[in-house]
Amino acid sequence: MPKPRMIEKVVTDSGTECQHSTSILSDQHTNKVKPAVVKKKLVKKSLRKIHPAHTINGKSKASSYDRVSNSTCKKAKINGKSIYASIQSENDCDASSSVPSLASNFSGEELDSSESVQIPADDESCSYITEEECDAKETEPLTVSSDKADVFQPALRFSAFSGVPPYLNFCLHDEKVVELPWIIRRCLKWKLSTITPVVVRKTVVNSGFRVIKEPKDWIGTWGKHMKSPLFTSILEHQKVNHFPGTFQIGRKDRLWRNMQKMVAKYGNEEFGFLPQTFVLPHDLRLLRKHWSRRTTDVPWIIKPPASARGTGIQVIHEWNQLPRKKPLVVQSYVKNPYLINGTKFDIRLYVFVTSVNPLRIYLYENGLVRFASLTYSTEMNSLDDLYVHLTNYSVNKHCEGYVANEDANVCQGHKWTLASLWTYFLGLGVDVEAIKSSLSDIVIKTLLSVTPALNEMLKNNVANRYSCFELFGFDILLDSDLKPWLLEVNISPSLHSTSSLDLSVKGPLIKNVLNMARFQFPNNASSLSKEHLANYISTYFKERVCEKSSESDEGSQYCHDPSCSRFDLSEEATKKHEFYENIVQRAVSVPSGSCWTVQNQGHKVPTDIVEETNILDGLTRDDVQHLIETEDELSQSTGFTRVFPSVNSERYFRFMDKISYYDMLLNEWQKKFGCLGDRTLAIDYLKSHHETTKLS
Ligand code: ADP
Repeated sequence: MPKPRMIEKVVTDSGTECQHSTSILSDQHTNKVKPAVVKKKLVKKSLRKIHPAHTINGKSKASSYDRVSNSTCKKAKINGKSIYASIQSENDCDASSSVPSLASNFSGEELDSSESVQIPADDESCSYITEEECDAKETEPLTVSSDKADVFQPALRFSAFSGVPPYLNFCLHDEKVVELPWIIRRCLKWKLSTITPVVVRKTVVNSGFRVIKEPKDWIGTWGKHMKSPLFTSILEHQKVNHFPGTFQIGRKDRLWRNMQKMVAKYGNEEFGFLPQTFVLPHDLRLLRKHWSRRTTDVPWIIKPPASARGTGIQVIHEWNQLPRKKPLVVQSYVKNPYLINGTKFDIRLYVFVTSVNPLRIYLYENGLVRFASLTYSTEMNSLDDLYVHLTNYSVNKHCEGYVANEDANVCQGHKWTLASLWTYFLGLGVDVEAIKSSLSDIVIKTLLSVTPALNEMLKNNVANRYSCFELFGFDILLDSDLKPWLLEVNISPSLHSTSSLDLSVKGPLIKNVLNMARFQFPNNASSLSKEHLANYISTYFKERVCEKSSESDEGSQYCHDPSCSRFDLSEEATKKHEFYENIVQRAVSVPSGSCWTVQNQGHKVPTDIVEETNILDGLTRDDVQHLIETEDELSQSTGFTRVFPSVNSERYFRFMDKISYYDMLLNEWQKKFGCLGDRTLAIDYLKSHHETTKLS
């Protein structure tokens, strides 16, 4: 049976593996199908073939009964000291490319692979075209499920507000949109990156985009995290799936450091949801002290600071098992996980951040539950058995007893949907709402720990708030008291779908993420394309026709307007910002929750000043623009819950060094109109202000 293998040089091995896969990517041939249709088919080899053998520094041991799978599972017992569970030959897992050391430029080149592994693109067929082929009338065959073959989704969707350029509509990976005329569609270029997940590629292709390997211009891409200065080269009409600086939570060492600061400021009660961690070599002495105070049978888990998929992870309990020479994260091992059928599991939450200032965080209602493949044990001699202690799919799928689950609605096998877990818990009478609320709390606080740093990076590297969005994967372990522990945050969560269960979670996730990101037709399209877009809209969406300004191209009113998302403000808006950010500097909800006290630089400001002032009075054009974006995004948030701003956002204001103007604005908006259900009142209110500010 294949078992976890030992890797001595994780970086080198994986780096090579990666380059190998990249070279496969670039070595494809062109397959002409019809004269007018150029199709380039990339069939990547399974990397399993590149690294066929998973070696193990030990032997197979006795069978044990796996109650989750109801099957017999051969126990992979690994002996020896330096054991690394690294099944790097699959592309099904979180890309540790999420870390800055793996940052790439837009052409997908590695900048630095010195610290960690790069995960290549999903291990499935991937088709794309090159820039040269792009100007030919190119069509890529759409892959749609047969029952949806005759159903076309609209290619464009419109804002609830007049004068907002239409959004490009994303359909599901197995649906398709109505094909736009070629002259319009030719502008819809999606840049292929080395990690573009197949579900993303299928979604964008079926939504009318052409996926291009090295396009001269493009409007969207889904790639690895980039070094911050590279964000400066994003053009006004382009969007990338990262914010600069998110490695501050994406790396295990940085996550701990940021959380430590929050614990120091606000206490363990509020921020003690990360198991105690030591970052070596810096914290070696501290760890030694701590270690000697604990009994020897307390396990620790050691992890590379910037890796993923269980790579390089060990559970240890003796000081001399600790590798000394390499950077390492040593974390208190949660010894009492909640068990289902005797087996440990963790939860993958998908968290979508559409904006950092104002902070807007959405939690996907579904997710994944990943089980270890062998029965849990706290025996010291079980610690080196990765199939008992690690819940990564990439590790456990190699266990003979691993049972896949194709059914998203059934609690069986070693992978469940989060929705199934909630159903299972409800059956046991567990307070699921309380768990969900703790999960939201962890998500919000984790992001708050880095928002000042993210804002700084955005200010220095990003010109336009249209440019960035980010999907995170939060890994959570529930202990026997159902207390959630944050294990790590992935900034390139795996979107690989090996089963219909995966696809049922990730397909709608991606469709909704891309719609919430609100892509628009590029403003730098040719005059001809713009004109055709205008004709298309006046033919098919008569009621959405809007006037163009006299000096601009025909059709330009339907393209993304960069001036709406620049950070510069009118004089009036600047004054309003100053008032709320400087005068009303720190608003803290008093315990009764019914009224506000406001402090200015440590002095209390008479409450009546604030009571007379409401940020929603005298909405500026910039305010209206932000609120329109917020409402348009919310209208696409099917399957997500917006957790910030939300009903209890004010509770989180005290964890912010400075509450931004926009956070105050959205908080008041949410207090007035909520963030759920019927938006008619909110939209009508905003429409009236939209008309007034348009005229001003
Ligand atoms: P990776 O990024 O390599 O997946 P994780 O930190 O998520 O690293 O750890 C991998 C697995 O190890 C987790 O899915 C979980 O099963 C287990 N694990 C990690 N940290 C702890 C911990 N502190 N206590 C118990 N189990 C842990």
